[in-house]
Amino acid sequence: MDARSTDIRGRAMCYRCFKVAAACVCGDILQVANRTGVIVLQHPRERHHPFGTARFARLGLERVELRECSPKHPASMARASALPPDTAFVYPSPDARDVEDIPPSERPAHIVVVDGTWHHAHSILHAAPWLRALPCVRITPRHPSEYRVRREPRGECLSTIEAIVATLRALEPDTQGLDGLLDAFRAMIDRQVAASPCLPLPRPTPREA
Ligand SMILES: [Zn+2]
Repeated sequence: MDARSTDIRGRAMCYRCFKVAAACVCGDILQVANRTGVIVLQHPRERHHPFGTARFARLGLERVELRECSPKHPASMARASALPPDTAFVYPSPDARDVEDIPPSERPAHIVVVDGTWHHAHSILHAAPWLRALPCVRITPRHPSEYRVRREPRGECLSTIEAIVATLRALEPDTQGLDGLLDAFRAMIDRQVAASPCLPLPRPTPREA
């Protein structure tokens, strides 16, 4: 077996989706011909996270670019900052427009999302004034996140792939296959929950009960 196909613990790995071979998700992912360009700014801690969900965007979208974005490394921040014109940031800032309310003629050509924990996203945002200067769009989740294997501070926090799919659904409602990306994401979560006796994690308590 090629050395590159096993990890340091000797487990067979899939280096396309960066998961152990037994949990490879590649076969679940079908290509989606999205029109809106998607740029994922990935915190370096997220790159090899076994439950990271940017892999579904990277492998499933035709128009996607993954850029590492480390607040501790100015060079990576500078590389990440070169965004194409007409890019909107998917982030719930106070002045963000709800993506469902944007008429077709005003829809952005590109969206940028941050891939990382809530804490990572804040550290990237703090180090990136160019990101804070972008027009923001927000999504209003119709359902709580199905990301039952990692903790987020609030129930309305979505995983990266859930946020991308929700945004693309609103921006290009005729695009086929977006639900398939969520099916692949759910299959990963289901496999993980089935294999881990301490999962799923309890949902965060709603702030307003
Ligand atoms: Zn794979």
